[in-house]
Amino acid sequence: MRLPFLILCLSLSSILSAQPQQKPNVIIILTDDQGYGDVGFNGCKDIPTPNLDRIAKNGTIFTKGYVSYPVCGPSRAGLITGRYQDRFGFGRNPVLAPEDSTMGLPLSEQTLAKVLGKVDYQSMAIGKWHLGAHPTLHPLKRGFDEFYGFLSGGHRYFPEEWVLWDINDIEKQNDGYRTKLMSDYTRVDEKAYLTDALSREAVKFVQRNPDNPFFLYLAYNAPHGPLQATQKYLDRFQHIKNKKRRTYAAMVSAVDDGVGQLLDALEALGIADNTIVFFLSDNGGPEKKNGSDNGPLREGKGSLFEGGVRVPFAVQWPGQIPAGQSYDKAVISLDIFATAVSEANAPIRDSHPYDGVNLIPFLKGLNKAAPHEYLFWRKFDQNWYIAHEGNSGLKVITEPKEGHHVYDLNEDISEENNLADRKKKLIKKSSKRQEIWLNGMIEPSFMGLLQRKEYYKIKGYHRKE
Ligand code: CA
Repeated sequence: MRLPFLILCLSLSSILSAQPQQKPNVIIILTDDQGYGDVGFNGCKDIPTPNLDRIAKNGTIFTKGYVSYPVCGPSRAGLITGRYQDRFGFGRNPVLAPEDSTMGLPLSEQTLAKVLGKVDYQSMAIGKWHLGAHPTLHPLKRGFDEFYGFLSGGHRYFPEEWVLWDINDIEKQNDGYRTKLMSDYTRVDEKAYLTDALSREAVKFVQRNPDNPFFLYLAYNAPHGPLQATQKYLDRFQHIKNKKRRTYAAMVSAVDDGVGQLLDALEALGIADNTIVFFLSDNGGPEKKNGSDNGPLREGKGSLFEGGVRVPFAVQWPGQIPAGQSYDKAVISLDIFATAVSEANAPIRDSHPYDGVNLIPFLKGLNKAAPHEYLFWRKFDQNWYIAHEGNSGLKVITEPKEGHHVYDLNEDISEENNLADRKKKLIKKSSKRQEIWLNGMIEPSFMGLLQRKEYYKIKGYHRKE
């Protein structure tokens, strides 16, 4: 009697495992201006990040994990569309201009929320939006079902400083940092420290959707300035003498607590194994400004040296992606979109080129090749370019002052030894590839934050700065 029962069980289980897998939930945890070196999993000593490290331990650390631009707005535009943002003119950091429907993510683009919505994902954007403050560019108009956060490129952290009920009341750029938070379309009177409020909403969203496939875009603005932390978090860092670094550490620690609460919620609901959790920063740390540390990387936010675009980056999907893995081939934030839509089997438009790849076969070891033969970056106004050869780890920088630089990132993480004289062939080859890539890119379609005075003048907006 026992044997047939066992056979029945085995055949039942093989039938079950042959069933198409339930669509995985997708969570992107994005921090703002966090340095490459400021997570435990990249060797940080003075700021414990046990929960960010939990993602790394449960899954994979990307040692060469990049974003597509070294400042906030364009990096987010690439991330949320899975396309190089220069394909659609998002080559500058946008000005906060709620009057202007062209200042942000163009309506030609579909966000990850929009695409996953086609296969019945419930989605929420939490925290910093920065993809347009005009009503037509609001997250709920861009495929998200729910929103809790703010539209501007940054925000103050203490609720008593949020005094504006209407974003149209801004007199200068940074007034956007003082708005009341928005719940969907409604301004609300939030009372909590900003990072804690965003974490709380993330946990609530997951708890509301235990059975749905969901997509959560949790875009913390920490540890972007202004440097503001509550005593609870500051008390953890008495050992850090530098005041800037101490506050920065407290802000990172607040994020880490929130990430812990979110991971706990997934585990308590029994859905951790069916949820892909990505963690990354939107660009490198501006070390002098916020006290961040990019570790061995050269320069930081705004730069096309590694410190600007190489970020702390990890992913977990327990049971699917091997645990405790370190992946050394170059990947980019654009891959998150490709991974999510592939695993969700969601339809993307044939008319639009996408630039990411599904990382899962690479992380499972099924594909041993480099995910990208080449990665490219452009800073249009500065006339700077990078071509990064995925297989060799060689990187070519082209800029107006010194021409070409070549660095071997596998041997020279700090970009100290310029190999340009010895790599003429590579420069020629990568320049050709770069030209082809540039054919698919367009010029920025709006004026950037750095041109705001001129922009106000042209538009006739009366702003103080
Ligand atoms: Ca940023």
